[in-house]
Amino acid sequence: MVRVNENYLKLPGSYLFSAIGKKVSAYSEANPDKKVIRLGIGDVTQPLVPAIVEALHRAVDEMGRAETFRGYAPDLGYGFLREEIAKKDYQERGCAISADEIFVSDGAKSDCGNIQEIFAGDCRVAVCDPVYPVYVDSNAMAGRAGDYDEKAGMWSNIIYMPCTAKNGFVPQLPGERPDLIYLCNPNNPTGTTLNRSQLKVWVDYARQAGAVILYDAAYEAYISEEDVPHSIYEIQGAEDCAVEFRSFSKNAGFTGIRLGFTVIPKGLKCGGVSLHGLWARRHGTKFNGAPYIVQKAAMAVYSDEGKAQLKEQVAYYMNNARVIRGGLESAGYQVYGGVSAPYIWLKTPDGMSSWDFFDWLLENANVVGTPGSGFGPSGEGYFRLTAFGTYENTAEAMERIRRLKRS
Ligand code: PLP
Repeated sequence: MVRVNENYLKLPGSYLFSAIGKKVSAYSEANPDKKVIRLGIGDVTQPLVPAIVEALHRAVDEMGRAETFRGYAPDLGYGFLREEIAKKDYQERGCAISADEIFVSDGAKSDCGNIQEIFAGDCRVAVCDPVYPVYVDSNAMAGRAGDYDEKAGMWSNIIYMPCTAKNGFVPQLPGERPDLIYLCNPNNPTGTTLNRSQLKVWVDYARQAGAVILYDAAYEAYISEEDVPHSIYEIQGAEDCAVEFRSFSKNAGFTGIRLGFTVIPKGLKCGGVSLHGLWARRHGTKFNGAPYIVQKAAMAVYSDEGKAQLKEQVAYYMNNARVIRGGLESAGYQVYGGVSAPYIWLKTPDGMSSWDFFDWLLENANVVGTPGSGFGPSGEGYFRLTAFGTYENTAEAMERIRRLKRS
């Protein structure tokens, strides 16, 4: 008899956002007169900037002419884009990353979900808690996470590194030695950051322990603080111990057109084996290249015009973040994050659980956020709001929350 991968059967019930979606749909059906404002899911709302739209149009026209039509893209990405990324995102920041160390893909979610495939099945995995769920779930699917304890909300074989207000949302070095360490900076969901010296602790630790850091910098464009690194390769020695994931989703609004990339330095080795070579083999076998038109659109992200337009777009979202932070603080909430990241992490009032606060906010303010416990046990008692809404909705949501608190 055919057997399924039973690791999938161990995954906890419904994915966080589908659980939220169900609750919100049920509420809206029962209360059709209420305008629900969604500040839950981290998806962008602003349209593609003109420089990107123009680049897309030009690329589509090329695809419509026999002389310039292109079929499959090179599976690791077009040279023009890999060169541009290496130069603008790395070399100009003093990081010695070359074009052939860049792997272009359809987004960071696939890459940070797939990367675990090139490591042994018995590798020990450490994650921050709360965590972007993909890191844990992808390892659970591969059988590396052990068993799920529904009550504790934890996997038996994952090393959790709590990040709470108590430690300033900075993960502490774990007692047990991990092989793979996932770090997300700026962080989703907490919206907090690690500065250079905090990140250096991890790079030094990984090198000494022979571990690999899987560094997710999907929110790099939102960094406004001087001492927060834009890339882990700004830290000396990181090229020997770290893989970096980047995405065009949040810096350029590509959530719907899809593009990202992974950096694996050539010198990064595990047991004498080059991870660069393994990932190239994996990528070339299972991925057939990101679309030409999207890679051309990504070139516009690096043009002077595109850069200026995107700076404004990021500023628009970060203005929302300021509105949320200010609104919540004036309503008496304890608020974290939202300075170099589009996420605001608030402490739920009066010891309320994350889901109780979700229900309370939905019913009383008709505002949707994300319960912190959905990101891991240390997220319990916290709640995430995103700055990716429209300004009008964000301001209205804060006004409703302020009014609630006063009444
Ligand atoms: N990494 C983090 C931390 C994210 O929050 C997200 C998206 O929400 C991603 C990766 C996925 O990015 P992409 O849209 O490029 O797949």
